[in-house]
Amino acid sequence: MNQPLLIVIDDEPDLADFVCTVAEQVGFDVKPFNNAALFKDQYTYADVIVLDLIMPEVDGIEVIRFLAESNSDAQLILVSGFDPAVLHSAQKLATEQGLNVVGSLSKPFRYDDLHQLLSGLSITPKSLTLRTPVKPPSVEELREALANSELLLYYQPKVGLNGHFIVAFEALVRWQHPTHGLLSPDLFIPTAEQHGLINDLTWVVLEQAMMQCRSWQDQGLAVQIAINMSASTLKELDLPEKIGVLLEKYGLKPAQIILEVTETALMQELIKSLDILTRLRMKGFHLSIDDFGTGYSSLVQLHRVPFSEIKIDRSFVIEMGHDPEAAAIVETVVLLGHKLNMKIVAEGVETEACRATLAHLGCDQAQGYFFAKPMPADEAFQWFSAHKSEKNR
Ligand code: C2E
Ligand code: MG
Ligand code: MG
Repeated sequence: MNQPLLIVIDDEPDLADFVCTVAEQVGFDVKPFNNAALFKDQYTYADVIVLDLIMPEVDGIEVIRFLAESNSDAQLILVSGFDPAVLHSAQKLATEQGLNVVGSLSKPFRYDDLHQLLSGLSITPKSLTLRTPVKPPSVEELREALANSELLLYYQPKVGLNGHFIVAFEALVRWQHPTHGLLSPDLFIPTAEQHGLINDLTWVVLEQAMMQCRSWQDQGLAVQIAINMSASTLKELDLPEKIGVLLEKYGLKPAQIILEVTETALMQELIKSLDILTRLRMKGFHLSIDDFGTGYSSLVQLHRVPFSEIKIDRSFVIEMGHDPEAAAIVETVVLLGHKLNMKIVAEGVETEACRATLAHLGCDQAQGYFFAKPMPADEAFQWFSAHKSEKNR
């Protein structure tokens, strides 16, 4: 299949490479030019052009003029390390000359910004917008990242569907990679699992999340924090005590913490984790089964662990609108989960229709892009401030 072509024109080879990597993930064929003169010589066609405005010799404005003269119909993304005003006027200039400007980026920009911009372009077939894993960063890099505190947390709200609007924030780890930008956990959690770094990672996350929870509480934001736990961390017998020490350090109560464990992780070592999970629950922590429906376990099996909530995997939630089987699964999990005294949370709620169906089915809580994407802590706080008075939708 012929993929759409993206050309990047940037004199910084590292940045051009980064743009190419992200574009390839999104599904483009790519062609980098470190020199605008060469580009002008060779240009015949492109679906998307990412253009750095500030380059030695031939600058971006000249390239814009050249593209206009060539009647280029490429979708143009302008990049600049200068202040936003430069970007803005270049954008105006290009548009006035009949070019199709679809976005702009200020340097330094993050993986997520570029990924989001490229995935949103209409020429991209929908199937290609899914995150395709690239070659994961090496273990050594990850070890350094842990030592250099390059891991940070984004937060996504979990909202109530019948009662209080904001009930919790889920902490989702990101890696601010020095050259690749912001990396998604799917690109490094598996490496951490395979090379024995996952416990270290989990403790970094637990500490950051609790520190944030404390700081928010001091600013009047009292919400629960949900943290993702890997299967191997759940085998550390002194886990409940160690988490207890952290809680004390930040003056928090166990009931403020929700520990999420994926269904598949749980099934790997159910017996071993059962002991630890039961002790955590007895201490008052909330326990959640994440990605429910993907692990082929039965709720009866899982009911041996005192879970307080089930998160229905987003694949069922997203499909619910047009797939009657997915809808039946969601409905059944809500009914059975309630009979077993668990709260039901739906992940991946992207539309109002989906929210309304879930509310109608009696689902307790929801999480998804319809409400908010995962955000840095300060944005999450602003989001909370803007929505705290809402009771429901
Ligand atoms: P998860 O715990 O199931 O987290 C939900 C994922 O769904 C997040 O992806 C979130 O960005 C994404 N999501 C939220 N709303 C929507 C929506 O409306 N539509 C769609 N399509 N997706 C949505 P993210 O942040 O990339 O995290 C991926 C997974 O990585 C998480 O899945 C979790 O299993 C794992 N993970 C994240 N942080 C940690 C961590 O600190 N420790 C461990 N062990 N795993 C983590
Ligand atoms: Mg989760
Ligand atoms: Mg999940």
